[in-house]
Amino acid sequence: MPKLTLSAENALIIPPELRNHLGVGPGDAVSVEMGEKGMLVLRASRESVPLPPREKESGAAAGPVHPQEDGAALKEAIARKNLQTRMQFIKGVGPKLSELLEKRGVMCVEDALYLLPHRYEDRRELTPIVRLKPGTSAVFSGKVLSADITATKGGRRFFEALVADDSGTIAFKWFNANPTFMKRVWKPGRSGIFTGEVSQFGYQREVHHPDVEWLEEGKRVQDVLAADPVNFGRIVPVYPLTEGLGQKVMRKVMKEVVDGFLGSLQELVPAAILEPLSLPGLRQSVRDLHLPPPEAGLDDLNQGRTPAHRAIAFDEFFFWELGLALKKRGVALEEGIAFQVTHRYTKQLARLLPFELTGAQRRVLSEIKTDMMAPHPMHRLVQGDVGSGKTLVALMAALVAVENGYQVAIMAPTEILAEQHWHTIHRFCTELGIETVLITAGMKGKAKSEVLARVANGSAQIVIGTHAVIQEKVEFARLGLGIIDEQHRFGVLQRGVLRKKGCNPDILVMTATPIPRTLAMTLFGDLSLSVIDELPPGRTPVETRIAFESRRSQVYAAIRDEVRQGRQAYVIYPLVEETEKSDLKAASQMAELLSRDVFPDLRIGLLHGRMAPDEKETVMGSFKARDLDILVSTTVIEVGIDVPNATVMVIEHAERFGLSQLHQLRGRVGRGSARSRCILLTAGKLSEDGERRLKVMESTTDGFRIAEADLEIRGPGDFLGIRQSGMPDFRVANILRDGSLLEQARQAAFGLLERDPELSAAGHASLKDELLRRWGQRLELALIG
Ligand code: ADP
Ligand code: MG
Repeated sequence: MPKLTLSAENALIIPPELRNHLGVGPGDAVSVEMGEKGMLVLRASRESVPLPPREKESGAAAGPVHPQEDGAALKEAIARKNLQTRMQFIKGVGPKLSELLEKRGVMCVEDALYLLPHRYEDRRELTPIVRLKPGTSAVFSGKVLSADITATKGGRRFFEALVADDSGTIAFKWFNANPTFMKRVWKPGRSGIFTGEVSQFGYQREVHHPDVEWLEEGKRVQDVLAADPVNFGRIVPVYPLTEGLGQKVMRKVMKEVVDGFLGSLQELVPAAILEPLSLPGLRQSVRDLHLPPPEAGLDDLNQGRTPAHRAIAFDEFFFWELGLALKKRGVALEEGIAFQVTHRYTKQLARLLPFELTGAQRRVLSEIKTDMMAPHPMHRLVQGDVGSGKTLVALMAALVAVENGYQVAIMAPTEILAEQHWHTIHRFCTELGIETVLITAGMKGKAKSEVLARVANGSAQIVIGTHAVIQEKVEFARLGLGIIDEQHRFGVLQRGVLRKKGCNPDILVMTATPIPRTLAMTLFGDLSLSVIDELPPGRTPVETRIAFESRRSQVYAAIRDEVRQGRQAYVIYPLVEETEKSDLKAASQMAELLSRDVFPDLRIGLLHGRMAPDEKETVMGSFKARDLDILVSTTVIEVGIDVPNATVMVIEHAERFGLSQLHQLRGRVGRGSARSRCILLTAGKLSEDGERRLKVMESTTDGFRIAEADLEIRGPGDFLGIRQSGMPDFRVANILRDGSLLEQARQAAFGLLERDPELSAAGHASLKDELLRRWGQRLELALIG
C-alpha cells in the first residue's frame, strides 16, 4: 500500500504508483475526501492547478518524486507527460465536451496546443453600424428597435429584429427560432454587443443568428467588453469546430490549456539555429497564435505568415528533415553490394542502339554507377521528363547488376507499362543472352509457378512486373537491384518491401512526372537525386492549342490530315461509359461514332481500363504495328506508352484533367522527330482553375514548370494523389507557402547531423527523443542509444 506523506509546505506528496493510478501529473489537483471506515479517498480533480513557473519545476515541485535525479531530464519527462494530459482534466471540460473535442481530433493537451485557429477576427474595436461591411464578421453595439415574427414573400416564416446605433440600422434574422422565446429576449429598448457575419440582400444589410452579450441597465459598453477579455477587445481566434462545439467554449478551453501547459512545450531546436533566422521560440509562437498580441497583423495571421506561424512551420520541417537526414545517413552506413562495372553487357547494348545516349543520360548513368560500386546500398531517385529516355538508363543499370551475377526487379505502376517495359527490355536482352521474365497479376497455374521457380532459382535475371513483383510468393535467388518506375504511384512502404526481398539491394526510383523541388525534398529527401534534364535530339516541342466545341470539325480535319501523312492519332476521353448524370463523351461510344460517322474509312481502336489485360495488349500491339490509325482511349495510356509515329493527340473535356495528367498524356506524342500537336478540346464554360491549367499547357512543354504550376493550383495534398504516397501531415507548415523555410530547415538539419552524426552533444539527445516520438515509426527510424 503506497504511503502518503506531507511535504514541508503541507502539500500532500503522492507516490508515483498512486499518481499513475489516478492519472495525474505533478501540479494536478487531487481531491481528498473522507470515505467509509475513516479511509481517505483520492480523486483526480477537475480543478487543475496551474503548474508553477518552469524555473521551479525541477527543484522544489518535482523534488519529492525523485529528488536525486538529474533535473533537466526529469523536467523533460514531466513536461512530456503533461502534454499527454487528457482533455477531461482541463478546467471546464466535462465528459460531453471532451467527447466533442475528441471528434475534432483533440485527445490531449498537446493536440489542443496545436489545434490552431484557421481564422482570426478583429475585435479590437466596435464598428459603427453604418460602417459594417457585407462579407466580413464584425462586433458592434446597438439598441433593439423592434423584434417580431415575419415572413418572406414565399411564405417562409422567420424572426426579425431591427437594431440601431447613432450611425445606422441593421436587421438580424433567425430562421428556426421559437418566437415566444425570442420575443421574451429581444425586447425593444434593450442594448447589447453583437457579433456576426454581415451579409447583404438587395438594399438591406443583415446578420443571421448573431451572438449577443446583453448590457445590464446602466452598464457601459466598455465595461462589459473589458470584463470578457477572451472574446472582446482583441484579435480573437476562430477555431475549426465540430457540431455542438461553439467558438466561445473553444476559446475558453484553449486559453485554459495555453495558460496551464505552455511551459510543458519543449524548446528543442537549438537557439543557434533559430536566432540567425529571427524566429521566435515554440512557446511564444503557440501562445501568439492562440492569443494574438494586440499589435499582431490581422492579414498576416489570416494568411499564416506571422513569425509565430513561420516558427512552428520551421519546427515541423526541421524535425522531418532531421529524420530524413538520419535515414539517409543510416542507409549510407549500411553494408551493401559493391558492384563492379565490367562493361560486358552495357558496351554491347550501346552497340545495338540506333542512337547515342544523351549527355544527361550519360551523366545520370555515371551517378548511378558510382552508387552501385560503393559498398553501401544505393537509394537514388531519377527524375526525367516524359520521353527523356529513362527506360534506357534503367536498363543500363540493370545490366551492371546482371554483369555481377545479380538479379534485377523492375516494377511499373500498371500492367500495360510493365508489359511495355518487358517488350523493350526483352528485345535487347534476347540479343545479349540475358533471361527476362514478366510477372503479371493475371498469371495463373503452371505458367505462374514456372516463372516463380525461375525467379527463385536465379535463372531469370531481370524480373519485370507490377507490384505483383513484391508479393510474398515471389522469392529471388539473388536480388541485387530494384528499379521502381513512376515512384509517385507507390508508397514509401513498397520501397521497403522491395528492399527486404534481397540482401540490401540497390534501389533506383524513377519518376516521369517532374516533382517540384520543395516536394521532392519533403517526399524523397532521404534519396539522392539525379535529373535527366535533356531530351534526345531532334524532338520538336508539341504544339498545343485549346479548341472549343464549335471547332470540332476542324479538329477532325487535323486528325485526318496527320493520318493522310502516314501518322497516327490519339483521342482521349475522361470516362469509359457514359452515365446518365454526365455529359462526358465516353470512350466506347465515341469510338463507335467516330468509326461510323466521322472516319468510316480509317482504322480505329479502343482502349480502356475495363478491358482484360490481353485485350488491351492486342489493341496496343496493333496501334504500335500501325494496324490502327486512331486509338480512342481513356487515361489508361497515361504513362509511359511509346509510339513515336503518333503525332496528334486530341483530349476531350481537357478541363477535367489535372495539369500533370495532361502533361503525361501529351507526352505520348512528340516522341519521334516529326512535328506533333496536341488539341485540348473543351466545351467552353471553363472554371478559373480550368482555364489556368489549359493556358499553362498552351504556354509550355517544360515538365518542371508545369509541375510547379500544378502544385500551386492544386496544393500539395492533391498533387498527384501524393497523400497516399507519403506526404507527412504537417499541422502548420505548407510547402507552397513556406518553401524557403523548408530549404532553411533542410540545411539546418543536415548541417546539424554533419557536425554531430550521433546526436550525442549536449541538448541533442532530446532532439533525438522528440524525433523518434514524432516520426520514428513513419520513417522506420531505428536509433539506438
Ligand atoms: P521516358 O523517360 O518517358 O520513360 P523512354 O525511355 O520511354 O522515355 O524513351 C522515349 C523514347 O526515346 C523511346 O522511343 C526511346 O527509344 C528513345 N530514346 C531514348 N534515349 C534516346 C537517345 N539518347 N536518343 C534518341 N532516342 C532515345
Ligand atoms: Mg518510362
